[in-house]
Amino acid sequence: MSEKQGKHIAIYGKGGIGKSTTTSNISAALAEAGYRVIQVGCDPKSDSTTILRGGNDLPTVLDTLREQSKVRLEDISAVGFGGVLCIEAGGPVPGVGCAGRGINAAVELLQDLKVFEEYKPDFVLYDVLGDVVCGGFAVPIRDGIADRAFVVTSSDFMAVFAANNLFKAINKYAPSGGARLGGVIANSIQASYSKALIHDFAEESGVPVIGYVPRSITVAQSELYGKTVIEALPESEQAEVYRKLARYIDENNDSVIPKPLNGPELKKWARKWGDRIFEVETGVVQKMEAI
Ligand code: ADP
Ligand code: MG
Repeated sequence: MSEKQGKHIAIYGKGGIGKSTTTSNISAALAEAGYRVIQVGCDPKSDSTTILRGGNDLPTVLDTLREQSKVRLEDISAVGFGGVLCIEAGGPVPGVGCAGRGINAAVELLQDLKVFEEYKPDFVLYDVLGDVVCGGFAVPIRDGIADRAFVVTSSDFMAVFAANNLFKAINKYAPSGGARLGGVIANSIQASYSKALIHDFAEESGVPVIGYVPRSITVAQSELYGKTVIEALPESEQAEVYRKLARYIDENNDSVIPKPLNGPELKKWARKWGDRIFEVETGVVQKMEAI
C-alpha cells in the first residue's frame, strides 16, 4: 500500500451495541479538536455516519458502483459535522453476495481516487460490524488497512461473546502484519455490575478497557435530532466521556495482541458472573462493591 496518511482505526463490535454512535461521537470530538477526519461505515446497515450528517441520506459505495461505471468522491461522500468526511461502504443486494464485499470495494475505491493523499486526514475511522468475522469483515484488520482496532461491548453476554471472537481474529492476523488491539470500549453502562464484568473479561483476555460510556438519554435525544451528542449537547457529561475517548485514541498508541478465551474458559467465566450477579440480585451479597 502507498504511504499512509493519518492514523487508521477500526472500531468493531456486535450489531446494535453502539459502534456507530461511539465512532461518530469520537469523530465529532476529534473534528472539534481541529483534526481532519474521515469516517467509513463498513456495515451493510449503512447508517454509520447518519448522526454526523443531520440524518440525511448518502448513497453507498456499492450501490453507486452498481449504477455508474465512473464514480467520483462527491458521489459517495458527504461532509458532516466539523468537516468530517462521511462514507458508507454499503452492502450486497439482500440475499445475494457477501456482506464484506462493500468494505473491499470502498477501500479500493478510496485508494483509486487517492482520497487519503488528497484529503490528508489525521484520522480515518472504520466502523465495522463484528458479529461474524468473515473474510470480508476482517479486511480492515487483516490487510494492513487499520493500524489499531478497538472493540465496543456492553455487559450482555452476546456482546462479550462477539468481542471474544474479534479477539480471536486479531490474535490470528496481528502477528503477520494485521492490526493490533488498542482496547475495549465499554458501552451502555448502567447496572452496577456492568463495569466490573467488562473489566474482568478484559483483564482475563489481557486487554485494557479504554473508557466506560454510560447508557444515557442524551444519546437517544441527540439521535432523534440526527446529531452526535458532541454537536447536540456539547456541555453534557456524556459529551465529555466521548471527548475523553477521542483524546485517548489521539494521545495513546499502545496496543496488544489479545488472548481470547477458549470455549470451556468462556463458559466457566460466564458461570462465575452468573453466580455473582445472582447473589447480588437475591441479596446474598448486598453491594456490588463487595465483589
Ligand atoms: P451499532 O452501530 O453497533 O449497530 P448503534 O450505534 O447504531 O449500534 O446503536 C444502537 C442503538 O443504541 C441506537 O439507537 C443508539 O442511539 C443506542 N445507543 C448506543 N449507545 C448508547 C448509550 N451509551 N446510551 C444510550 N443509547 C445508546
Ligand atoms: Mg452501526
